[in-house]
Amino acid sequence: MRCELISVGTELLVGDTLNTNVQFLSRELSLLGIRVYYHTTVGDNPERLKDAVRIACERSDLIITTGGLGPTQDDLTKEIIAELFDRKLVEDKQVKQDILSYFANREFPMTSNNFKQALVPEGATVLRNDWGTAPGIYFDQGERQVFMLPGPPREMIHLFQSAVLPILKKNENQLVVSRYYNLSDIGESAAEDRLLDLIDKQDNPTIATYAKMGEVQVRITANGSNEVEINSLLDQYEQLMFERFGDHIYSLNKESLSDAVCRMLLEKKITIATAESCSGGLIASQLTRYPGISEVFGMGLVTYSNEAKMKLLDVSADTLEKHGAVSEETAREMCMGLKYSSGADCCVAVTGIAGPDGGTDDKPVGLVYIGVFYKNKLEVTRWHFKGERQVVQDKTAIKAFNLIRKAID
Ligand code: AMP
Ligand code: MG
Repeated sequence: MRCELISVGTELLVGDTLNTNVQFLSRELSLLGIRVYYHTTVGDNPERLKDAVRIACERSDLIITTGGLGPTQDDLTKEIIAELFDRKLVEDKQVKQDILSYFANREFPMTSNNFKQALVPEGATVLRNDWGTAPGIYFDQGERQVFMLPGPPREMIHLFQSAVLPILKKNENQLVVSRYYNLSDIGESAAEDRLLDLIDKQDNPTIATYAKMGEVQVRITANGSNEVEINSLLDQYEQLMFERFGDHIYSLNKESLSDAVCRMLLEKKITIATAESCSGGLIASQLTRYPGISEVFGMGLVTYSNEAKMKLLDVSADTLEKHGAVSEETAREMCMGLKYSSGADCCVAVTGIAGPDGGTDDKPVGLVYIGVFYKNKLEVTRWHFKGERQVVQDKTAIKAFNLIRKAID
């Protein structure tokens, strides 16, 4: 199958918006074994959009457009494609209802042009969009399949995964199954390096890595005609993943690191408390994102000043004087003071220099001590994170979660 992606939007042509949709779609489609031969980007101009679609029809069997499905005058994709494929635009009752409830739920004022989004080429399948008002649209005609997806990346990705993938898989008569491995404490390039031999010869399954700060996700996707065949392929790769990454793998559930830690704390019923200096409450904040965490998390302190460390955590003036607020000794006393005042099973304390000022040769910007106390064992580790203030803070929180994970595992 020859596929062509058409991105619609003048903002893409003038460089206001980076075209992340084509990157996402190209990657997803190639993992499915669909060959993407052309990327076309065209502005919100009816004549040029018509030309682009006409050309795509001559050389491609699968056409996926993104953008231009909105309510305003310059959103033309549906109108142009309906015209070229000789289909009338008709109002879809369900979409109209969806748009009405979307606005009713949000208390936004609704304007009449929103109903333009309820118009659908006759005979097309509506791909319902729970994340916005513009639905996606699918139809096939002759040898050709056409998908129209909304421009905003969040909506496009959601719709692709929930609605487009199942249709493509069904048409291909192939089963496609993915497994996910979430890694921490390893960078994307290091992770990829350990997989290079497999990536180089990849065919089925395919391997893709995705990185966020402090976390890497590896996705292994296999296709075949039945589940037994696919699962046996995936099992072989699973074994390789554990051989190569060991306890870097913290989850098989697409969770973030902090979510995985929260889940573990709840599963194991381990209570936790935090005392943070340089991370300013980031660790506590990420804990509180997790629904139900109040069962195990009762106290998070931000002890920024020396006074706060002394008053709330019983850090001694002597220690602060002798070793400084950013020191192994202070982290140790913070952790034990926290244990005393909170009584939590697991206590985490961090102290460091986020910068940009305050660094010395001895104690440079990015120097962070993290203490984790669990089961009568206190371990304080020293880190030197590179980057701007916010990066140092983010890295501190990520590292702390990783240390908690290892302590309670
Ligand atoms: P539209 O569906 O054309 O109204 O697009 C709505 C918004 O989605 C645009 O303002 C862009 O910010 C974003 N957008 C559209 N196309 C793309 C694309 N190919 N990549 C990234 N963002 C996009
Ligand atoms: Mg647009």
